[in-house]
Amino acid sequence: MSQTKHKNQTMRKTEPQAPAAKGVTPMMAQYMAIKDQHEDYLLFYRMGDFYELFLDDAVTAAAALDITLTHRGQHLGEPLPMCGVPFHAAEGYLQKLIRTGFKVAICEQTEDPSEAKKRGSKAVVRREVVRLVTPGTLTEDSLLDARAHNYLAALGHTAGEGGLALAWMDMSTGDVQVMAPNMMGPGAGLGTGQSAGQATNAAGDAGEAGLNLLLAQFAALTPRELLLPETLADQVRLRFEAAAEVGGEMHVAMLPGSQVGSRSGEKALLEAYQLETLDGLGFSSRAQIAACGMLITYLNLTQLGNMPSLKVPRILHGTGAMRLDQATRRNLELISTLSGHRQGSLLQAVDMTVSGPGGRLLATRLSAPLTVRPDITARQESAGLFLRNPILRDDVRRQLKAAPDMARALGRLSLGRGGPRDLKSLQQGLSLGFEVFSVLKKSAETLSDEVQTACSIFADNPAAEDLRALQGLLSAALVDSPPLLARDGGFIAPGFDAGLDKQCALRDESRRVIAGLQTRYSEETGIKALKIKHNAVLGYHIDVPAAHGEKLSTPPHNAVFIHRQTLANSVRFSTQELADLAGQISRAAEQALGMELAIYQRLVAEACRLSGPIGAAAEALAVIDVAAANAELAQARNWTCPQLFEDDRFIVTGGRHPVVEQALAARSEGPFIANDCSLNGPQAHHLMLLTGPNMAGKSTYLRQNALIAILAQAGCYVPAQKAEIGLVDQVFSRVGAADDLAQGRSTFMVEMVETAAILNQATSKSLVILDEIGRGTATFDGLSIAWATVESLHEVTGCRALFATHYHELTSLSERLPGLVNATMRVKEYKGDVVFLHEVCPGAADRSYGIHVAELAGLPPAVIGRAREVLAVLEQDRRHQSVGGDVLTGLPLFAAETAAESVPDPLQSALDDINPDLLSPKDALEELYRLKKLRDTET
Ligand code: ATP
Repeated sequence: MSQTKHKNQTMRKTEPQAPAAKGVTPMMAQYMAIKDQHEDYLLFYRMGDFYELFLDDAVTAAAALDITLTHRGQHLGEPLPMCGVPFHAAEGYLQKLIRTGFKVAICEQTEDPSEAKKRGSKAVVRREVVRLVTPGTLTEDSLLDARAHNYLAALGHTAGEGGLALAWMDMSTGDVQVMAPNMMGPGAGLGTGQSAGQATNAAGDAGEAGLNLLLAQFAALTPRELLLPETLADQVRLRFEAAAEVGGEMHVAMLPGSQVGSRSGEKALLEAYQLETLDGLGFSSRAQIAACGMLITYLNLTQLGNMPSLKVPRILHGTGAMRLDQATRRNLELISTLSGHRQGSLLQAVDMTVSGPGGRLLATRLSAPLTVRPDITARQESAGLFLRNPILRDDVRRQLKAAPDMARALGRLSLGRGGPRDLKSLQQGLSLGFEVFSVLKKSAETLSDEVQTACSIFADNPAAEDLRALQGLLSAALVDSPPLLARDGGFIAPGFDAGLDKQCALRDESRRVIAGLQTRYSEETGIKALKIKHNAVLGYHIDVPAAHGEKLSTPPHNAVFIHRQTLANSVRFSTQELADLAGQISRAAEQALGMELAIYQRLVAEACRLSGPIGAAAEALAVIDVAAANAELAQARNWTCPQLFEDDRFIVTGGRHPVVEQALAARSEGPFIANDCSLNGPQAHHLMLLTGPNMAGKSTYLRQNALIAILAQAGCYVPAQKAEIGLVDQVFSRVGAADDLAQGRSTFMVEMVETAAILNQATSKSLVILDEIGRGTATFDGLSIAWATVESLHEVTGCRALFATHYHELTSLSERLPGLVNATMRVKEYKGDVVFLHEVCPGAADRSYGIHVAELAGLPPAVIGRAREVLAVLEQDRRHQSVGGDVLTGLPLFAAETAAESVPDPLQSALDDINPDLLSPKDALEELYRLKKLRDTET
């Protein structure tokens, strides 16, 4: 995570003629003035065909980009450090810098050098920063991951009502969303053992539960950049900063008070959406307005008034989505693995979408599974539609494979950063949308409600007519393969505009005349090798081999041919006739380009006018892509459609782990063994205690069931023969042990923080998986914590839970806890070897075979032999001391109400008894002595 304070910037034009200090050239004076306004940014300072970086920026960028650091003259008597990147290749360098966590200010020349010269020979060309490139405000395809959203998030805060709100946007598509937990009163949903006062203090007015909701949403988004108000309470700020830290490459920018209030937010929103009032947007708290306003303000600052076309903010209330906290997302490796890679994550294993927007939508769905049954079944029905009809599915997927990213193309166009290729993308995307729609309409299948609704944008209605007209217009206007940049010209198709055609004909005709002129000059001079060439310095010129140079320089030819340049192998000339023709060509080409640019602007304006319907069309294609991909996945891997219920059952038959199964298949390592899981089924157990050897498959089993719940509620099919799932409100997972040194937490502390979150926040509708609680501390401490945790989950939370452990003592709890069932992983011992069968069966394990696994891992034989001896002695000892079962079963059962009675602290009581207002100075001194004495006796 990197962090900057964002200065209250006003983008002033720098005064080019500012008097330079001694030892500072006028150009450097200009550079310093611009750099002063953009301290947090690397300044890309345009000089001709390069962006140059100077001073500290040069040193930093040269190291980050691995380019040469040079020097250019002197600055304040010292050599001036400098490095540069070519203008035409700048995107690649920008990408590297942004990925490394830098922000870049792009400073362009904003006047022609000839204009500057008029002010004097030493005058500096006027330059301005035209854009601030930050991780959360990218739009270029080369800087973005096609299959991942690029979110900019802002935390809005208002004192008093509403408290906090989180807003986020993907600038490349214009989507804006905001969430405020305002349905909760202060302190609502507090976890065990926390007073309302404590929580309210920590979270502002939103309450601890509300803050957790926002943190969970923040974790789901993993934005590239987070905006925080400088005025935010420290406790809240620290928690978001910590969450951003976990998010890896995330940039945090602190905005000053003047840019974060709801009043300034309201002003920014009214202006951005061109509204008189915000009433129609449906905000329900000032914090929501503040958060959305921060996004807009930041866009104004970084895009310098070049606002993208933004969709109206969607207001989410935090209901309707399954809650997954940051630890759970990380542990379950939903979108990326613990090491930050997509390969090996759930998303990668299940993503069969064929387009970038489809991939992004699937990632969003996996990050925020639903909790409302009809919404989930709507998605299932869409997948079912394509599962029943493989021909339709293949057809649609083949078409979508060629679908351009319309949302991002539109985003660039609306920012003035697009080009003819983006217009072409819209044309191709729309045309493809209409084709897909007609294929779907023609199919004998009844469309699912979700697909029907998404596709309504292509059906008979005025918006569809507008889109059809735009598609037709773009199709007629653009050539098949237009250039990336409008300024290169040549992208308007012949026949679209008569005036342009005329200019192009003139330009092309002149070129033909030049070809004729070459033939004529060659004949008239008798020089067969005479050529008419063109370059940037001389323009059109006559080029003859050096041997013929003399001939053209002497009578009679020198009356026509004017010498321009002598090179080693050739001599160059011009003629009046050629100069006239060249002038005609350049005027015609200039005029043609001007006309093309004017047409381009009209087309862009038309596309931006229809940004709403284009966005809906892009969304429809993504919805269809995800539905068809889910069907493809279900078909290819034999997955099933989960049945959803409102009760608390979790009954999975033949469940598999989607990622491990695929990894085993890829390594040809034998089949994945499917396992059942029944919680709150006919046997009415809601908590499973799983014991078994190391490497037997316990963690895999726990995770696969959590993933099945998440996939099911994301609307996907699941890797099982059958699945009956009572809707889960939150999934919690504590799996594996890792320290978090960045946050100053040891392995055991991380384990306990995650366990605390589960015990404090899980409800009876939650699904909890706990793997190896209490392993990071002394055996008896760990066992006691694990014991109490199982009891608490059983007695207090009452949720569905899978608990894996090597503390075999815990299995005795099943005799006293009716909702708990013991299960174990089957192993076979064969001629001294252990074979892991990976099968879950009823019962308890009595051994962990840890030494066997250590042997497999390659511990030296001497160490293994010694470990066996030690184990034998320890096990004998344990039998004698009767540790575990016998002792522990004697303990009273955990119950929330029977919290340990606190023994009053005498020092505390003595302090409570003192009333300082009634004490004389002498009494006070005596009291002080008494307290000290009491403390000494206590210790
Ligand atoms: P430990 O107690 O040492 O943490 P564990 O019991 O949790 O071990 P896992 O990590 O779940 O074991 O599994 C170990 C390996 O066994 C997995 O990486 C996988 O290759 C294989 N495995 C697990 N479950 C299955 C299964 N159901 N079918 C086939 N192979 C499996």
